[in-house]
Amino acid sequence: MTKKAQIIDGRAISKEVLDEVRKEAAGFAAQHGRPPGLAVVLAGEDPASGVYVRMKTRACGDCGIESFSHSPPGDTTTDELLGLIDKLNDDENVDGILVQLPLPDQIDTRQVLDRVLPAKDVDGFHPVNVGRLVRGDDNVLLPCTPVGVMKLLDSAGVDPHGKRAVVIGRSDIVGKPIAMLLLHRHATVTICHSRTPDLPGVAREADILIAAVGRPLMVRRDWIKEGAVVIDVGTNQLTEENAPEEILSIPGKRADFEKKGYTLVGDVALDADQVAGMLTLSPGGVGPMTIASLMSNAVKAAVWRKT
Ligand code: NDP
Repeated sequence: MTKKAQIIDGRAISKEVLDEVRKEAAGFAAQHGRPPGLAVVLAGEDPASGVYVRMKTRACGDCGIESFSHSPPGDTTTDELLGLIDKLNDDENVDGILVQLPLPDQIDTRQVLDRVLPAKDVDGFHPVNVGRLVRGDDNVLLPCTPVGVMKLLDSAGVDPHGKRAVVIGRSDIVGKPIAMLLLHRHATVTICHSRTPDLPGVAREADILIAAVGRPLMVRRDWIKEGAVVIDVGTNQLTEENAPEEILSIPGKRADFEKKGYTLVGDVALDADQVAGMLTLSPGGVGPMTIASLMSNAVKAAVWRKT
């Protein structure tokens, strides 16, 4: 009989997180006479960003968080965006500010993100919050995807203490903070990137393997140690024209192409479940956890601002 890995179900776990957030948001509203407030800034018309923002504002509605949408045009300037951030920083009803990335090319993204008050920085991107993350402080607004990954591990009963963890990807918003959170939980962490020699060999050392690369199905089955826990952060959009044969042969994916014109796949090969002990799927793993963590951060920001 073929062995199959246990699936860590991000959709189910995110629902539990959102149930908790809903209760906390109601408690905040009862105490302060208004719901927690999250401002969402979407500059320009990037279609993928539009989809993410709609998912986030819908999640706000589901959780009892008031969302304030701001959609400056695609030709907005850095100064205009800084002016908007200043207004939101001063607005008492706004507890959290989310600036959807990527911003249009002409915008100085770093300057805009650095303008958000650290206390309202629900994405955890401000240098003050990054510093607090590195120090391992309590009560910090941490980046949403990394927090979601840690919650998936915790919910599956995976304790990083003493484990070998390998994180593929070193971005500021995913790879580096995940590595730091694993380190705080006493894993021995290796961070890999595009210049890492013998990536498959390094990956095979991992008890916990995190793939955060953005390359469809890059992590092959033979990169995975028998019984390892594999978290697939990757979310890659493929069309029928650029999809490899292993995707085209799956009936569900074919239906995606017909209905939506594209399908989503992760960074990890589809037969990884033959080797891994536990794994997440993409979609349906880390993605829902990212949104749940954002909602959780919005309520935390509201509560912490009032204490
Ligand atoms: P980035 O493009 O910022 O970073 C990708 C990282 O992967 C870089 O560190 C890069 O290395 C590394 N990399 C690229 N190619 C290779 C390679 N051939 N071998 C080894 N390493 C490689 O992406 P993000 O961190 O923002 O996102 C990563 C993935 O996670 C994407 O698919 C994204 O869509 C997904 N994502 C999913 C989220 C969710 O909620 N599910 C949220 C955020 C991201 P180098 O630094 O050397 O260039």
